[in-house]
Amino acid sequence: MSGIDALPPLREVIAEHGLSARKSLGQNFLLDLNLTAKIARSAGDLTGCDVLEIGPGPGGLTRGLLAMGARRVVAIEKDTRCLPALEQIAAAYPGRLEIIPGDALEVDWAAHLNGPIRVCANLPYNVGTELLVRWLTPETWPPLWQSLTLMFQREVAERIVAAPGSKAYGRLALLAQWRAEARIVMDLPARAFTPPPKVNSAVVHVTALPEPRFPAPAEGLSKVVAAAFNQRRKMLRSSLKGYGPGIEAKLEEAGIDPTARAETVSLERFCALARALD
Ligand code: SAM
Repeated sequence: MSGIDALPPLREVIAEHGLSARKSLGQNFLLDLNLTAKIARSAGDLTGCDVLEIGPGPGGLTRGLLAMGARRVVAIEKDTRCLPALEQIAAAYPGRLEIIPGDALEVDWAAHLNGPIRVCANLPYNVGTELLVRWLTPETWPPLWQSLTLMFQREVAERIVAAPGSKAYGRLALLAQWRAEARIVMDLPARAFTPPPKVNSAVVHVTALPEPRFPAPAEGLSKVVAAAFNQRRKMLRSSLKGYGPGIEAKLEEAGIDPTARAETVSLERFCALARALD
């Protein structure tokens, strides 16, 4: 017995199905089922929830999510070598695991899940940020998901939860904090993974707020933040000069010193600027 279920230990699963890790697929597996159960627990109460998992691999976290009582898990995996191992888990939890072979950037996951929906994943690093940005920028808010519990490289996790004035503060922090609450809930050393990556990792838990913290047009906010941080060392009156000669007045209208740099400006002020430019 493995501890959380009656399935074989993950090292056996990997050996049986020949799942040698591939760098091109961002494969750094978690083989300790106590750890995957802990990550699943940090996603909140899963009972009564459908859970979306990206990149289940050999299924360590999948097993954690099912053992923690998820109503259903929908798992999207690009590596077809992993499918037999995942089928074994599906058989142990009848009707509760749907495996979707394919690329998470292309699959229409919403069609496979019913609310309430939580997302929990040890993400492939090469697509992690792209997926997060997509989840944070749906056409309507609140989003379909209630929470995101995601593994990132520690440096990316810091960028998501960063406060103004810090080196890590930028587009990702503003995006994540405008309509959601984000915090780091767990740190993982590189040695927790097989094979170990070059850097440490952290789990970030993001909860969707019912409404944005401050009113702002979504597209306008995203555009002005991108322009401001594109040249983060420059004064805003210069990095935003693409907005035309009236930009200094708009900055002042939003309560921002035109000579300030993007990294010192709060979310509230960026929202005011997006409104002024709207
Ligand atoms: N969840 C497993 C664990 O914790 O041990 C594996 C995590 S590993 C960091 C990332 C997984 O994502 C791998 O199984 C990889 O094959 C899969 N993957 C990589 N790119 C993907 C993509 N675009 N869509 C879906 N899965 C992908």
